[in-house]
Amino acid sequence: MVTHRFADIRRQLHTSNTFWDDSTAHGLVDIVATDMRDGIVHDRDGRSIVNFSSYSYLGLDSDPRILAGAHRGLDETATVNSSISRMRIRLALLEEAEQRLTATFGAQAVTVSSCAAAAWATLPLLASGELTDGTPPLVVFDKNAHFCLNAMKPLVAEETELVTIGHNDVEALEELCRTHDTVAYVADGVYSTGGGAPLAALHRLQDRYGLFLYFDEAHGISTVGAGGRGYVLDATPGWRDRTLVIASLNKGFGASGGVIFYGPPGDHSRTPTLLRTSGPLMWSQRTNTAGLGAIVAACDLHDDGTVDTLQRALRARVDLFDSLVETDLSGDGLPIRFVDIGREDVTVAVARDMLEAGFYTSPIFFPIIRRGSAGLRLMLRADLAPETIHRFADTLTASLAAHRRGAEQPA
Ligand SMILES: *Cc1c(COP(=O)(O)O)cnc(C)c1O
Repeated sequence: MVTHRFADIRRQLHTSNTFWDDSTAHGLVDIVATDMRDGIVHDRDGRSIVNFSSYSYLGLDSDPRILAGAHRGLDETATVNSSISRMRIRLALLEEAEQRLTATFGAQAVTVSSCAAAAWATLPLLASGELTDGTPPLVVFDKNAHFCLNAMKPLVAEETELVTIGHNDVEALEELCRTHDTVAYVADGVYSTGGGAPLAALHRLQDRYGLFLYFDEAHGISTVGAGGRGYVLDATPGWRDRTLVIASLNKGFGASGGVIFYGPPGDHSRTPTLLRTSGPLMWSQRTNTAGLGAIVAACDLHDDGTVDTLQRALRARVDLFDSLVETDLSGDGLPIRFVDIGREDVTVAVARDMLEAGFYTSPIFFPIIRRGSAGLRLMLRADLAPETIHRFADTLTASLAAHRRGAEQPA
């Protein structure tokens, strides 16, 4: 019997087709770049586009020092991928990258091909009870947890009981902690839609009830926290027991792959459990050697204060943007903004104006968000010139005014 308890792929596909078809018809997707030198998209048609929709918040994706690290990875190992399970034979460069991540973030680290693969590798294990003294926990998902976490629900449900609660609903979570012996909470540290998890309250539940906290830090790592330790790991000194953090190394961090932080530095007691039971950690898919070299170089930039400097530059750009364009999340200190427009056709028209002026933004509408609440999702970067942000804001203000006037006119 088909239940669609956790997903309905055909329905999802059919509802999102309109969104993608509209975006395609207006030239807002399928842009082909020949290179991304200096953080600028140089496309095949000779356009130079400033990317206001990049996850590389610190501008590290095109940093020459990280590129040099990637070259070193290839040159030193003379292979792109080791093509054998890391359990059997692994490269010294893999160990070096993991030791560096462990030292930089103050937490025992294992690398994996992506943050999504990290979710795949760890959520079923969490559900099995292997990380909670042998008792499968009640697994509680935040309603807004990332797609890659939600996609694991069927496997989690195969191992234990699971529930989904409202966004940041600490009261509901505490009630579950009171009525169940072992509870694990699955959430994003920083949400891709903006805002963060209520860490102080969650840590209180962890101290009082032994709540296990599982966080996806794809957006938090590097972008915030001293030395780029992120939203979760920088919130309290040292490693907190009963915690697991996964993150992407493809975004703010500036390299490639994903990472799992699973204990205090130097504690290898969980390493065999993690490596032996988790598919994506066992197979051939790892961060390749260019990525591993890039990880080591990115750790250098986290350790030597470069990332702190870039965070300050990013903050200044976000503050400048907030002073020019008013949005709901103004002042939250994070680089993700949403310009609320409302109508889908107006949103697409504004995104087209922006692209014609040399700025890429992401129009977002149903089914990604509620019908009638369309708008542009923007991400700011530390390497944007202030005068570029001024030009962007002027263009956006003019375009919004023109289309709103047009939209008000009787047909
Ligand atoms: C981007 C993102 C991911 C996926 O990261 P990959 O490394 O691309 O797999 C996971 N979680 C969140 C919150 C994200 O924004």
